[in-house]
Amino acid sequence: MKQTVLSQTEISPGVFLLAVERRFDFLPGQTVKIGVSDGEPPRIYSICSGNQDAELKILYNVKNDGSLTPQLARVKPGDTLELSEPGGSFIGTAEPAVWIATGTGIAPFYSMLRSGLAENKILVHGVRRANQFYFSKDWKKTLGVHYHRFCSREEGDEFSLGRVNGFLETEHFSQSWKYYLCGQAEMCVEMRDLLISKGIPFGRIVAEIYF
Ligand SMILES: Cc1cc2nc3c(=O)[nH]c(=O)nc-3n(C[C@H](O)[C@H](O)[C@H](O)COP(=O)(O)OP(=O)(O)OC[C@H]3O[C@@H](n4cnc5c(N)ncnc54)[C@H](O)[C@@H]3O)c2cc1C
Repeated sequence: MKQTVLSQTEISPGVFLLAVERRFDFLPGQTVKIGVSDGEPPRIYSICSGNQDAELKILYNVKNDGSLTPQLARVKPGDTLELSEPGGSFIGTAEPAVWIATGTGIAPFYSMLRSGLAENKILVHGVRRANQFYFSKDWKKTLGVHYHRFCSREEGDEFSLGRVNGFLETEHFSQSWKYYLCGQAEMCVEMRDLLISKGIPFGRIVAEIYF
């Protein structure tokens, strides 16, 4: 369906939050396909807003040598995009869970938070730069001590230097919890192997890989 862009905000260098009107129901964690121009294959994006919010948002970073994102970054309010219906099986539930994300992989978890699924959740977010902890105010307010941040290239008072692995290697996790992984393939594969080595059943691990 064609949809008009309502807003487009650069929330961190090269990272944008784009909003259109929410015209359909979706499950928190689902994705949409977005196309900018005719003949250009669409790309998949996690929905980054609540399932009752008036606007549907996506969070994306521009790949300078990519095909779609440099065009998407030039889109202005009032321009038109092609948007698919929602899809995907990376769905949040009310069960206790650990949410593990790198970079813009935080998007589906933010949708889950905005959709009222933050109770009994631990969030572990890994980024390169300190200005990439998207929505940190909301996470701090909602999750408090259960919000864990790792930055691989900068030090700071409110987060640890390093990668998300550090957290999983030292903590003990319940086998009955669910483990959600979202972001780069390398992180998802590494974390899955680490969780399995710690006795977490394969069936309790769900991954959404951004390729
Ligand atoms: C389920 C899912 C959900 C996703 N959700 C998000 C999200 O919420 N936010 C987000 O930012 N991204 C998300 N992505 C990634 C997104 O779909 C796009 O892949 C991304 O935005 C890049 O698109 P692009 O067209 O700009 O780059 P592309 O043209 O796809 O290129 C991406 C990179 O691959 C390189 N490349 C392209 N073709 C080749 C080739 N043949 N050989 C080697 N390298 C190549 C390019 O140089 C570039 O660096 C998601 C992906 C999936 C599968």
